[in-house]
Amino acid sequence: MKYHLVTLGCQMNISDSGRVKSYIEKVLGGVETANVADAELVGVIACSVRQKAIDKVYNMIAVWNRQRRRGHQMTTFLTGCVLPDDREKFLKLFDLVFDMRDLPQFDKLLADRVHEGVYYPKLQRSEQAAQMDFFWQLDGYQPDKFEAYVPIQNGCDKFCTYCAVPYTRGREVSRSSHEIIEEVKCLVEGGYKSITLLGQNVNSYGLDKKGEEINFAQLLERVGEFGDKSGKEFHVYFTSPHPRDMTVDVLEAIAKYKCLGKWIHIPIQSGDTEMLKRMNRKYDIERYRQVISDIRRILPTATIFTDIIVGFTGETLEEFENTRRAVLEFKYNMAFIAMYSPRPGAVSSKWVDDIPKDEKSRRYAVLSEDLKSVSSLYTASMVGKEFRILVNGHDRLEGYLSGLTEGKIAVRFKTDDESLIGNFVDVKIVRSSDFSAEGELIHIS
Ligand code: SF4
Repeated sequence: MKYHLVTLGCQMNISDSGRVKSYIEKVLGGVETANVADAELVGVIACSVRQKAIDKVYNMIAVWNRQRRRGHQMTTFLTGCVLPDDREKFLKLFDLVFDMRDLPQFDKLLADRVHEGVYYPKLQRSEQAAQMDFFWQLDGYQPDKFEAYVPIQNGCDKFCTYCAVPYTRGREVSRSSHEIIEEVKCLVEGGYKSITLLGQNVNSYGLDKKGEEINFAQLLERVGEFGDKSGKEFHVYFTSPHPRDMTVDVLEAIAKYKCLGKWIHIPIQSGDTEMLKRMNRKYDIERYRQVISDIRRILPTATIFTDIIVGFTGETLEEFENTRRAVLEFKYNMAFIAMYSPRPGAVSSKWVDDIPKDEKSRRYAVLSEDLKSVSSLYTASMVGKEFRILVNGHDRLEGYLSGLTEGKIAVRFKTDDESLIGNFVDVKIVRSSDFSAEGELIHIS
């Protein structure tokens, strides 16, 4: 049976998609095809974060259903992040719509689809946890040969007003630490060199299983202990943590172990306390400042990345200026800046989106310039120094490969040796730009 899968959205969806592929191949005997016209099973791992992604799903299923009307026999399914309101609508278009947690029962769901079609039972947190345990026990393919993702948690209890995740993925459920460590070990033994622990709120890991499970700092300690014993070179990262739950013991664990990457992605979203309240972020700017100061003190070599939304409902010029001040004060190496757009299903989607598009674009451009002014200080400071980088592919410039430092700063270097892709090399930085650098290869190992 040939199958075709489309994956939309974030790293978590890509990670989930690896499990779906693995299930279809190992349990259903599927063989992947890039061509829908050849497939008997066609599925989408959906993302509801933006309306654009949902529109894309509608467009795809319209095309596939036209193909069916012309005689192409196929079964279609939809899973991933789907809002409750969309599930019934999509069911009129797909044969089967189900929660990712129910992947272990996919074979039965396929067999029953003419009776049920949609499979989204209402579950208590403990029932969700039991289902997720089955899901996580499934094997998953990784999207790459040397970079891997390991889910440690699913769902979110924070309910930021602009976000739909708590409604699509449900409440926070932590995966067994034993399984996480085993998966990390297996990936390292298999030659993976960059492993990212994934969750919507990684640093609240274990809080839903207090007394039964270790916390996030302890999880990092276990990974670090394994790293020390393994004698292998690799880095373990995590995304995304929440500023409210970022404790000193997490940072101390990162400082203690070589394999724990000195890179912190800590979303600020806004630099203004009133705005943070409207976003329901559960911290103020003083708390965030404390987190940054802890990072700088405990992890002096760490790079810091963040996420920011500009033009959120009601954002005044003064609130925006406070975000600019935060970017300049915290000197981020990278910020993923988004112009606010209401996300279907999120609380703020019912509020007036009152900042005009032009003004959002202006704020985006101003903040991007602020970001460059601070990130370039760091990249300029790299010049003349040696860095170890993990080579991850070809650079846009012909004759160059590129890779990432431990702090995820992109570095390119001239070489025609493609066998370096997937390996660590040492480079000496010779020039820098706003967010990246160029180096000369000095050592291969
Ligand atoms: S912390 Fe906020 S932004 Fe992150 S997943 Fe939860 S609700 Fe969404």
